[in-house]
Amino acid sequence: MQTKTCTKCGEEKPVTEFHKQKRGKYGVTSRCKGCISKIGWEYKRRPEVRERNLEYQREYQCKYRQRPEYRSYIREYRQRPQTRERTRERNRAYRQDPDRLEQERKRDREDKRLRKELGLVSNRHVEITQKYATRKGRWSDAEVKFLMSSELSLVNIALELGRTYTSVRGKRYEMRKKLEAQQ
Ligand SMILES: [Zn+2]
Repeated sequence: MQTKTCTKCGEEKPVTEFHKQKRGKYGVTSRCKGCISKIGWEYKRRPEVRERNLEYQREYQCKYRQRPEYRSYIREYRQRPQTRERTRERNRAYRQDPDRLEQERKRDREDKRLRKELGLVSNRHVEITQKYATRKGRWSDAEVKFLMSSELSLVNIALELGRTYTSVRGKRYEMRKKLEAQQ
């Protein structure tokens, strides 16, 4: 079998170990396949090259996401029954996650304890939401749905709905009790 010595690693290897190149000796490159792939690999690992590639990818992704085809695809994707079911499932799992619930209870207890200890009637959340509240009284189904499925913090839910922190917290407590009773 025809062999050739690689100019990089100096090893004598069969010509099949070299990439084809018409103008090279025996019609192959001067460096073996292994050396060439190693060069490419080392090149890609150089910090400035990596940084540049990442930059390019980010830019490309950004542009890609703004394309109307992509946006309409995403819209369509979100509407799919399987996607919606998966999202619902994920939200449900999140809401029922015992660790998270325990953490929330702990936070509530701590909050309550602190407020009692300090004799606070209203805290920052209550004040802020009271300032921006535009709604009170009966809750619409859409509001309840938003309250129970949103992953925002209570204060943000309150601001989003234009209700007070206290009413949002009370409503959520009420809904949870109702759900627990159903189970
Ligand atoms: Zn080589």
